[in-house]
Amino acid sequence: MEKPAIIIIDMLNDFVTGKLQVERTKHIIPNLKQLVEAARKSGVPVVYSNDAHYPQDVEVVEKWGNHAIKGTRGAEVIPELAPSVKDYVVEKRTYSGFFETGLDSLLRSLYKGEGAKTVILGGLHTHMCVRHTAADAFFRGYHIIVAKDGVEAFTEKDHEEGLKYLENVYGAKIMTVDEIIKEFK
Ligand code: ZN
Repeated sequence: MEKPAIIIIDMLNDFVTGKLQVERTKHIIPNLKQLVEAARKSGVPVVYSNDAHYPQDVEVVEKWGNHAIKGTRGAEVIPELAPSVKDYVVEKRTYSGFFETGLDSLLRSLYKGEGAKTVILGGLHTHMCVRHTAADAFFRGYHIIVAKDGVEAFTEKDHEEGLKYLENVYGAKIMTVDEIIKEFK
C-alpha cells in the first residue's frame, strides 16, 4: 500500500456506549486497537475523524437529535481507543470527515509533505460516515482500504450493503485488520 494513513471514524462514547449506541459495535474495538497500535509502531499516521456537533447542526436538528455534542463526554473517543499524543484528531460536523474540515490538508502534509496516498478506514458506520468519508477520499484521488472487521453499522444488512457499495463504487479494497497490518512491514 502506498503511503497509508489510518482514519478512525466516530469511535465516540455516544456511538459505542451512549445515546446512539449499537451493541454490535463492541466486537470491532479490539481489532481497531490492534490496528492503531501496529500503525503507531510502524510509523503509519493515525487520524481520528470525530463528530463534534453544535446543537444547531443540520444533522442534529433534522435527523439524529443531540449526539456527540462538542465538549461533552459523548463526543470523546472511547477510552479503549484514546488517541496518543502523536495521533491527529480532526473534528467534523457531518458524515464526511472531509466536509469543511482540515482533513485533506492534514493528509497532504504527511510523509514529509509528499502526502498520504492511501486511506485505511475504520470505525462507524459502514453505510454512513465511513461511506461519505470514502466518497470524499475517492473524489480527491486517494486509494481506499476498508477494514472489514474494523467497521460496523446498525444492522448486519447496513454493514454488508455498506461494504459492497464501498467496493463497487469507490474501488475500496476490503481487508481484515490482520491483512492490513501484514502490509505495514
Ligand atoms: Zn453526527
